Amino acid sequence: MLTSLKGKSVIVTGGSKGIGRGIATVFANQGAKVTIASRNEADLAKAAKELPGEVRYAVCDVSDWASVKAMVDETAAAQGGLDVLCANAGAFPQTKIVDMDPTEWDGVMATNLRSSFLCVKAAIPHFEKAGKGRVVLTSSITGPITGFPGWSHYGASKAGQLGFLKTAAMELSRYNTTINAVMPGNIFTEGLQGLGQEYLDTMAASIPLRRLGGVEDIGNAALFFASVEAAYITGQQIVVDGGQIIPESLEAIAEI
Ligand code: NAP
Repeated sequence: MLTSLKGKSVIVTGGSKGIGRGIATVFANQGAKVTIASRNEADLAKAAKELPGEVRYAVCDVSDWASVKAMVDETAAAQGGLDVLCANAGAFPQTKIVDMDPTEWDGVMATNLRSSFLCVKAAIPHFEKAGKGRVVLTSSITGPITGFPGWSHYGASKAGQLGFLKTAAMELSRYNTTINAVMPGNIFTEGLQGLGQEYLDTMAASIPLRRLGGVEDIGNAALFFASVEAAYITGQQIVVDGGQIIPESLEAIAEI
């Protein structure tokens, strides 16, 4: 049993949908004060209403410094400081290198990687003030461990988050703040649903646990990194993928 995070102040970027919504659900169920942040206000308002407990929302583009700084400062003011930052928002358009316009590459890098830097930078003054803090990044198995045609930019951004994590862990230690990353496999979300049933079925068949993960599976891993009990873990990552990266070959998975 982890020490309760009741009353703690939490930000979840990309909390209006998918994995972010799952992370927000887990923290809200703990009694934390949660702000979800993303671009579409109608989606945010709907999610904040449906989520359990005390959830507020903030419209924010995580690739834009002014927007991120305003969101973090306003949230800290509204929630009495900041204890946990879950930098989760991300995008995964699928385009092969040969067809990709360089602006698409830059956009994915901005949403997925630059955003990690911006969110952490904005949170530092609040962690410094509190004398402690927690950051949880949502990376992926795609990039750091696996590849998938069409996701060269996405994979590079997700591997980049882990590169950022190592030095950030060192720099944040002076504020008694840890930073770690969750690396999801295929998690069932609205975003993934858009890739079609055939993709979902093929993916489920390639996972030893024979199913896609749930958004709260990622929320639970984030909760652990945010917990009092994880105070001595920093600069690390955990794969949450139902065993997806383990099989050596199609034959190996067929043997199960
Ligand atoms: P999703 O269902 O498409 O949700 C993405 C969330 O991010 C939405 O709330 C979206 O809201 C927000 N967002 C996107 N661009 C943003 C921006 N520029 N500024 C602010 N918010 C933005 O995606 P998901 O599957 O939950 O993915 C969430 C994270 O998990 C991503 O970092 C992704 O790389 C990672 N991940 C997902 C899977 C998976 O299987 N689903 C696997 C590995 C890793 P708006 O569009 O309204 O801004």
